[in-house]
Amino acid sequence: MESRTIFQLGPDSKRVYSILQKNGPLTKNDLMEMLRTNFTNINRIMEPLEIERLIAESGIGESSGGRKPVLYDLNRNRFYLAGIDISRPYTKLIIANPKMEVLYKNSFTMDETCAPKKTVEIVASLFRKGLRQLKIDKESFLGVGLGTVGPLDRANGIMSRPKNFAASGWAGAPIKNLLEEALELPLVIDNGANTAILAEYYFGAGKGYHNLAYFYCSTGIRTGAISDGSIVRTIHDAEDAFGHMVINVDGELCSCGNYGCIDCYSSIYAIVHKYTAALKQGCPTAIMKPIASINYMDICQAAERDDTLAKEILVNAATIFGAGLANYINLLNPGMVILSGPLISHSEIYYQIASQTAARRLYDQDANEIIFSKSGRFGDDAIALGAAVIVVEKHL
Ligand SMILES: [Zn+2]
Repeated sequence: MESRTIFQLGPDSKRVYSILQKNGPLTKNDLMEMLRTNFTNINRIMEPLEIERLIAESGIGESSGGRKPVLYDLNRNRFYLAGIDISRPYTKLIIANPKMEVLYKNSFTMDETCAPKKTVEIVASLFRKGLRQLKIDKESFLGVGLGTVGPLDRANGIMSRPKNFAASGWAGAPIKNLLEEALELPLVIDNGANTAILAEYYFGAGKGYHNLAYFYCSTGIRTGAISDGSIVRTIHDAEDAFGHMVINVDGELCSCGNYGCIDCYSSIYAIVHKYTAALKQGCPTAIMKPIASINYMDICQAAERDDTLAKEILVNAATIFGAGLANYINLLNPGMVILSGPLISHSEIYYQIASQTAARRLYDQDANEIIFSKSGRFGDDAIALGAAVIVVEKHL
């Protein structure tokens, strides 16, 4: 499906748009310096952006002597973007403006009834609700982005072999077609760790870092990396490779068929499985719920309330994750590591132990001074917001 809002812009105009999106408002002088160009050229470059009403005057800047200069910024109301995050614990929809300000968001828990078709139906109903609330229509959208669970067949918009969704039907799901039909808008797709790291890199905690690593600790551990300013891509758009790093050669059997992967110990899936297995063996618990309905949030809360079993499992999970993190940091040497996802937002123990273990285990601690960011700037919105970012990257 093609975008109905097509802008015909040259590469320099696109570059100015991108600079203003990330750094605006700016004066013409600022832009001339950044593009190393002259006044005639900057006017020529900005003209199509003004004709398309993509940028507008947004106020008056500081004078360095003489007349105060006009500031330019994106026209926030020119179009809208929708970003969707289909993850295993939840699905989220946001509507944002071109400055990536969130105007609307809504989400729902993914249970065993949430197969692809039903999930898409709920997303479409949340989208309609958002349109009504904001009093806008879908004609004003540039497009929709989706960040979801890899590995992906990105060219065809198909989810290849995602593991551990509560409902069946996700392997091979033609998610791009399903969402385009339901929303009647063109869709761009990438794995969620990539969309999240892009949101943080351009607009959030990772701004200014050209080497950045992003870990989304959820049902599995999902990883995105930016190296020297470019996103690191793999052949199958997998985002789960880190989670299947072998950390214990004689370890437990993993869902991937290998033994001793990080995901066997440090993922939500592993934590819930270990906790409920111990309860079935008769371990005492502080959680007043039937075993089958215990989720990771219950376990995170119980650990903070001194439930010994919950604490032990989370500390062990975070220690193993932290050791894996140290290996990764030694290899890629990022300036900042963002730890995010539901496990990080729900468990201070998990975040603290993982980041401290990683920092202690680096092979050259002086050379590898790492800055950790807890949840980045966007927290659990990063995947959905980053999905909106890739729409702009594609169309502008
Ligand atoms: Zn594995």
